[in-house]
Amino acid sequence: MSSDGLVLGIDDGTTAVKVAMFDRRLRPVAMTRRRVAVAHPSPGRVEQDPLEVLEAVVDAVAEVLEAAAGRPVVACGLDHQGESVLAWDAATGAPRSPIVVWQDKRGAEAYDAVDPALLARTGLPPDPYFSAPKLAWLAREAGPAVRLGTVDAFLCDRLGAGSGTDAGTASRTALQVLGEVGFSAELCAAFGVPRDALPAVAPTAGDLGVLSHPRWPVDLPLRARVCDQQAPLAGAACVTPGAAKATYGTGVFVLAHAGDRPRRAPGLLPTVAWEAAGRVEYALDGGVFAAGALLDWMSATLGLAPDAAALAALAAGVPDSGGVRLLPALAGAGAPWWQPQARAVLAGMTAGTTPAHLARAALDAVAHRVADIVEALGGVEVLRIDGGLTNDPLLPGLQADLLGVPVERAGADATVAGAAGLALVGAGLLADPRDLAALLPATQRIAPRLDAVAREARRAAWRTFAAAALELQ
Ligand code: ADP
Repeated sequence: MSSDGLVLGIDDGTTAVKVAMFDRRLRPVAMTRRRVAVAHPSPGRVEQDPLEVLEAVVDAVAEVLEAAAGRPVVACGLDHQGESVLAWDAATGAPRSPIVVWQDKRGAEAYDAVDPALLARTGLPPDPYFSAPKLAWLAREAGPAVRLGTVDAFLCDRLGAGSGTDAGTASRTALQVLGEVGFSAELCAAFGVPRDALPAVAPTAGDLGVLSHPRWPVDLPLRARVCDQQAPLAGAACVTPGAAKATYGTGVFVLAHAGDRPRRAPGLLPTVAWEAAGRVEYALDGGVFAAGALLDWMSATLGLAPDAAALAALAAGVPDSGGVRLLPALAGAGAPWWQPQARAVLAGMTAGTTPAHLARAALDAVAHRVADIVEALGGVEVLRIDGGLTNDPLLPGLQADLLGVPVERAGADATVAGAAGLALVGAGLLADPRDLAALLPATQRIAPRLDAVAREARRAAWRTFAAAALELQ
């Protein structure tokens, strides 16, 4: 195989599609992104246009292939926005629904029909976040002769590789039994989701077919397909048990590698990391559903600053939040509480409170929420961090202070690097996901500066506030 061969990563994130080309040592060669619109048509509904996402992928891949100037693409990895789902026509591929985004609350009543003991076999709580209730809603609304599935399955179907997904994605639907691979007939029946409309479940890394489009000069050998929370676990090189990362984007997703067996912990989600090199590996996952979304809301909707970066800069201008506290539950309170109906709470203002204090309270809140999840994990030795919010100069140090352990920056765009890295495994160019550790080292280590007493005082004050804020709901 050609040593000047390139690896392509396609990241279908919630707010943007990113496409990056890497060399075989996962050094970036070219990268581009396209923003995709997220609509909030009514309270609790969050949607995207499937054709806009498809077009963004096609267009971004075309641009990056041009930059690759004819060098062969030896593997392509696709990651996608997890639990989001849609319906499309089985014959024509035309969308028959919007993308119902992971934050969308519709269909939650589907859980009422499911025996709690059966649901418990998935390892997941009855939260609208997961795909099954949304799929149940689509199965009722979208009519006959549809395919149903996550966005990876739709993109692969439209780009010629057929409707397929992986065990990691399936583990987040509430339709796969923990410790097994594939959709459970019993769970599908309980939710009213027709199993034969769902994608085929294939290994995360392997020969998954070919993606092609008339606008692309070459076909792409699809060698990995992975969830966008699992992709940065690989891209941050958290490939051995205990290694953990937090990806700070629209929400923050903390994942810790759990080894070859599912691990459970109160308030956290046991999930499949990936099926690669003949093994299924597991992770524990905790999500904060509004993080970047909180900064975007405070800047764009409340008008406190022109954008999230400017808001974060405001926060840097004050030594602390001046007693303002914020529970960032704009999309329900995720791990470890799982209260989907919870709303955000802002407290502690005086007439002297400024936008800078509110901005600082938002960053504090994100860092405390991540600390809540790391504590539920039983602690970590170091936390790898990546994602848009880590561009903020304050947040990494704040996070290290509240955790009492160092944080390490993963390389830029760990998500798309993880998709590409797993594609190297799928193509047989790496023997095992563990080989990613040598290719994807951390780029910076930030040590905590706060002493244990001060840290525990801040954490205790936060816990008291969070408990009171949840009590208000
Ligand atoms: P996703 O993959 O979830 O779409 P990204 O990792 O691209 O998200 O991160 C996007 C988020 O990062 C935005 O919601 C924005 O609030 C935040 N963000 C981007 N730049 C900065 C910055 N310089 N400082 C703080 N937050 C930022």
